[in-house]
Amino acid sequence: MPNDFPMRKIIHVDMDAFYASVEQLDNPELRGKPIAVGGSSKRGVVAAASYEARKYGVRSAMSSVLAQRNCPELIFVKARFERYKEISKIIRGIFHEYTDLVEPLSLDEAYLDVTVNKKGNPSASLMAREIRQKIFDTTGLNASAGISINKFIAKVASDVNKPNGQKTVNPEEVMQFLEDLEIRKFYGVGKVTAEKMYKLGIFTGKDLKLKTEEFLEKNFGKSGSYYYNVVRGIHTSEVKPHRIPKSVGAERTFNENLSSEIFMLERLDHIAEELEKRLKKANIAGKTVTLKIKYSDFTLNTRSKTLAYFISAKSLILETAKELLYQEKLQNSVRLLGISLANLNTEKEQKDLKKETVSVQLKFEF
Ligand SMILES: [Mg+2]
Repeated sequence: MPNDFPMRKIIHVDMDAFYASVEQLDNPELRGKPIAVGGSSKRGVVAAASYEARKYGVRSAMSSVLAQRNCPELIFVKARFERYKEISKIIRGIFHEYTDLVEPLSLDEAYLDVTVNKKGNPSASLMAREIRQKIFDTTGLNASAGISINKFIAKVASDVNKPNGQKTVNPEEVMQFLEDLEIRKFYGVGKVTAEKMYKLGIFTGKDLKLKTEEFLEKNFGKSGSYYYNVVRGIHTSEVKPHRIPKSVGAERTFNENLSSEIFMLERLDHIAEELEKRLKKANIAGKTVTLKIKYSDFTLNTRSKTLAYFISAKSLILETAKELLYQEKLQNSVRLLGISLANLNTEKEQKDLKKETVSVQLKFEF
């Protein structure tokens, strides 16, 4: 068991045949039938296949022509990404009931770091079960999960008992699990790399482990040291939640340079309106207003003011921006104006979260 680096509790949640399952959920006539999401045209590609279609060898990324040949009964359904996004949002909401350290890989997959979690639950396995149940109760869709000490193993493990299952690789099981793992199941090893590994006599994790780091780097470049480490249970990549922005802004470049402040005020009005929209959408407020002025000779001037309170309303943004505009005489005609808001109310949460993660005492109970 690797013990020279901090171990974490990572859950990888993966929806089962997501797009296809959503189509079967919304259209009962498609249930139990082999379906493919994607276009049926000559140039079409399968985006997702239902489990019924997979039995016939229909796979995602396969050409639609080949898919139809493998499964003559195959029903093609047009993708509805808006609908998938909608469900994805609901699922992410469930993840965030447990932790804010959620890293989505796509609409239907995410890593969760539950080392510290909002439920104070010490068992990642139980939480994974709960999460999958909640997903099913709210959406009617099945998910699978992998649970382990790092992202790599959690990702691989989520495939083990798919569909509608989960697999925990406990810290003491990690080494055996990785040694037994077929090389083509290593995350990051595609078809081409797998073929190359076979030629080098590497078929399982155990074979991989026998190779030196130099040998692997020589044959696989940068990926070589990745393979060398992951097979030893070493994968320190953190669960990276979507970056919360440090500032939010809006700006306009004008068709003609402006010299009159009256015109500038009119433009600032529009910019402030745009900024307010963005802030509302992200549900963010901030304390520091910055006015950016780019002159016709491309020199840049920024002026900032920090308020005692958080603002997000257009009227307050505009008022402060106007004040900043009049603060100093303009040097030249102006080609661009921008307003941004920093010192956001989301920053503190981020910092607190980090502190908490670092100071936690790890007690392992998967
Ligand atoms: Mg999936």
